[in-house]
Amino acid sequence: MSRSQRRVIFCDFDGTITVNDNIIAIIRHFNPPGWEPIVQDVLEERISISEGVGQMFALLPSSMRDEVIRFALGQAVIRPGFEEFVRFCRDSDIELYVTSGGIDFFVYPLLEPFGIPSDHIYCNGSDFSGESIRITWPHPCQDPCRNKCGMCKATIVRRFPPEQYERIVIGDSVTDFAAAKLVEFVYARAQLISKCEELHLPYAPFESFYDIIEHLGGRLQ
Ligand SMILES: [Mg+2]
Ligand SMILES: [Zn+2]
Repeated sequence: MSRSQRRVIFCDFDGTITVNDNIIAIIRHFNPPGWEPIVQDVLEERISISEGVGQMFALLPSSMRDEVIRFALGQAVIRPGFEEFVRFCRDSDIELYVTSGGIDFFVYPLLEPFGIPSDHIYCNGSDFSGESIRITWPHPCQDPCRNKCGMCKATIVRRFPPEQYERIVIGDSVTDFAAAKLVEFVYARAQLISKCEELHLPYAPFESFYDIIEHLGGRLQ
């Protein structure tokens, strides 16, 4: 990293900041008929992430709003070290963005204790005014991304040119591939590790945010 560059981190939410994938946990818990093939279609990249997430939530009636939110917030577990990691970024003058394919009704409340400014949190929206839950997409793909990401991480990353920023992605799954390919360094767990290996992306594996603090701390010296 040259002196003129600022370090910026794009951190996934589901399966990264939280231990589990909250969308899958919600759908699995309420178990509406027909959700399983949709998940498989997303994981095997037959349909886009936004199509899959939209289709799954459309299986749940809006009347279940309070129940769904209560369940989502109750089951989520924050990955160890995240609070310290947010503080580390602040103290080290690293810009931290949460780039999440999750939904506003659980992302914002779960991040509330950590003091991340709301304009540094990107996620999808929700609309409970119709028959069934409708997911809204305030941050869609922009040229050249055509993956129908929903919340397009690659589009956010592209707003930070490599001449000015050293860009780092933290993530775990298929939803992080496009952004991981663009950046200078990746912290990966789960499926994202094999993708980084396959594409020869510069990465380090992590299990807790303490691992990332330690690794980043080494890079700062
Ligand atoms: Mg994830
Ligand atoms: Zn996209």
